[in-house]
Amino acid sequence: MLSTMQDVPLTVTRILHHGMTIHGKSQVTTWTGEPEPHRRTFAEIGARATQLANALRDELGIDGDQRVATLMWNNAEHVEAYLAIPSMGAVLHTLNLRLPPEQLAWIVNHADDKAVIVNGSLLPLLVPLLPHLPSIEHVVVAGPGDRSALAGITPRVHEYEELIAGRSTTFDWPELDERQAAAMCYTSGTTGDPKGVVYSHRSIYLHSMQVNMTESMGLTDKDTTLVVVPQFHVNAWGLPHATFMSGVNMLMPDRFLQPAPLADMIERERPTHAAAVPTIWQGLLAEVTANPRDLTSMANVTIGGAACPPSLMEAYDKLGVRLCHAWGMTETSPLGTMAHPPAGLSDEEQWPYRVTQGRFPAGVEARLVGPGGEHLPWDGESAGELEVRGPWIAAAYYGGSDGEHLRPEDKFSEDGWLKTGDVGVISTDGFLTLTDRAKDVIKSGGEWISSVELENALMAHPDVAEAAVVAVPDEKWGERPLATVVLKEGAADVDYEALKAFLAESGIAKWQLPERWSVIPAVPKTSVGKFDKKVIRKQYAEGELDVTQL
Ligand code: ADP
Repeated sequence: MLSTMQDVPLTVTRILHHGMTIHGKSQVTTWTGEPEPHRRTFAEIGARATQLANALRDELGIDGDQRVATLMWNNAEHVEAYLAIPSMGAVLHTLNLRLPPEQLAWIVNHADDKAVIVNGSLLPLLVPLLPHLPSIEHVVVAGPGDRSALAGITPRVHEYEELIAGRSTTFDWPELDERQAAAMCYTSGTTGDPKGVVYSHRSIYLHSMQVNMTESMGLTDKDTTLVVVPQFHVNAWGLPHATFMSGVNMLMPDRFLQPAPLADMIERERPTHAAAVPTIWQGLLAEVTANPRDLTSMANVTIGGAACPPSLMEAYDKLGVRLCHAWGMTETSPLGTMAHPPAGLSDEEQWPYRVTQGRFPAGVEARLVGPGGEHLPWDGESAGELEVRGPWIAAAYYGGSDGEHLRPEDKFSEDGWLKTGDVGVISTDGFLTLTDRAKDVIKSGGEWISSVELENALMAHPDVAEAAVVAVPDEKWGERPLATVVLKEGAADVDYEALKAFLAESGIAKWQLPERWSVIPAVPKTSVGKFDKKVIRKQYAEGELDVTQL
């Protein structure tokens, strides 16, 4: 029997309409570096998004599923592009402004982007690439920045404000199939070449509802979220859509992502929530330790994208800021788990849950797969590769405009689950603890050593600012851990024996303790601020590290 329910497509267009009407008074505040930030209501954003859609169709000829790229910071105009482009039936392609230029060009060509909306301050990055981007016919420039580099370029140039000014604030939005492409984002390539993930209207809609649920970020129109995670990194974890759905105010840092301006904007605008990778929170902690600021408005902070060291969580607890750990991937939209402890526990009892990656929401099914392909029990001990499936999880990668979508065997199981490449255990009550990425696991004498566990233990040492542990070849054991540490400013000279003893005291088994050590000035980071272990392994292989063997 079929249901008797209406079948209304779940589209970004509906999110746009809901936000601009029901939550018209909510605001997007963009930091400008000037005494006053810039403020725009959802009603204004909605009207301007509609004008942008008219301009894209009438001036740029976007009339189907062409890709329109953005090369932008987090700001109000970027939110307008987020809403306008998918709603008109085109595909928003967010470009990662921290990628090496060759990779950026490869991605634009692969996606066959027809137009790009770029922040003026990012023209020095875009303009030299344009001769290598034959599909780009239009460049739309928004916000401050020197325009002189644009003289003589081939694509047509438009000023964002001039382009949308005076245009109609109504648009005959097409009735879209909810399974159609709405947006695309390439993985940042921490462990391989970038791969294109294409989100549907339906996946974005359902993911936004999940983001807003109390067991996830739990935001309402009483909240303001500081969106530090870039809009080019997995749709800023879905926040621009989720906020428009629930009227959550957004605080956008634009290009002011350094710890000092972030601390200033938190103290001044008093956001109740924020989302960012651990590197950002490490930097902010150092800043407020040196120059105290009041961060206490942020009752609820989402931290993820890389493992959150428990020591970082503890440090923020002391500042009155509660970090909630989350796991996700570009392929999972990204919300995969969040670490809200179960009900009825004391603070002390909550701790072991808070330091896990968290539990799966109803929309995400999970299983652990062992080396022989066997499914492992959820017993908190059996470690295997995590596989997931659900309505906001990728089933394939974009294969290019002429090709079919790609389902590489190492990324998708035969029965259609996503192989995450993450290794961990799941407790009997469904909490995920990741011990490594499959590619980062240290295989010593047939046993696995978790690099993440060693790193977390090292980063709890008072003299250690950051630590990254990688596998290096070893004649006897196959692989052994190399511990690279960044010392805190003003820390005493390094004593490796003492660090090793500290690890042993914190419960690391003796056979897992590293014998190779190196102090480095900073842990190399990827374009989205994660530890780039590829670089450390290469530096070691090429003899560039000063290594002490105990
Ligand atoms: P990339 O794969 O290029 O780094 P993603 O942002 O998609 O880009 O990264 C997803 C990966 O980041 C996950 O597969 C996992 O390895 C890692 N990750 C994300 N969140 C966490 C977390 N909370 N703890 C540990 N690792 C995490």
